[in-house]
Amino acid sequence: MTKKKPCIGLAPFGGVSDIISKTIAAHIQGYLPLDVDILSGLSLPGYAYDQRRLQYDAGIILKRMESEPFQDYAKVVGVLDVDIFVPIVTHVFGEAKQGGRCALVSVYRLKRNLDGSTPPRSLLLGRAAKVALHELGHLFDIHHCVDRGCLMHFSGVLEDLDQTPLDFCRYCSVFLRSALPAPNNNGGIRKAIR
Ligand SMILES: [Zn+2]
Ligand SMILES: [Zn+2]
Repeated sequence: MTKKKPCIGLAPFGGVSDIISKTIAAHIQGYLPLDVDILSGLSLPGYAYDQRRLQYDAGIILKRMESEPFQDYAKVVGVLDVDIFVPIVTHVFGEAKQGGRCALVSVYRLKRNLDGSTPPRSLLLGRAAKVALHELGHLFDIHHCVDRGCLMHFSGVLEDLDQTPLDFCRYCSVFLRSALPAPNNNGGIRKAIR
């Protein structure tokens, strides 16, 4: 079997545990016929810290990421363990520019249930994988999906995220397959496309 060309860079920012990075990478590779490299050496993006909100500005981080070469990976997913926001909402689980190159996933709010309790690790890892695949979908120019049973359905709160299955609907799967970079776009999306 020939090795697939690494195409996606996973970039954990300081403080993200290995198990989270490896789980996200494994899920991306499990759904897409693309290899993922886990990058290292990114420190917390202090330049994006908002002193009034005590959170990190996702837009500023993404802008900086988009300007960095990142070894020519087609897509780069940054993973953070700090609270991130975009100006109009209190927080986001992830953020990506539609059709862009870089996306963000924050596990900060995935680590606590709504009642303040700590979720089992399997639930936390599943949440992180869902957010990463959703944001990656945006990078491949898939918009939000009306199907509640699809990963591209918008989830603003944990309750929604937990109810969303770890799978794309048939339409988003087909769209995603056609959007993947050549020559890997013939392999289909494992599991999701069948
Ligand atoms: Zn979205
Ligand atoms: Zn869908």
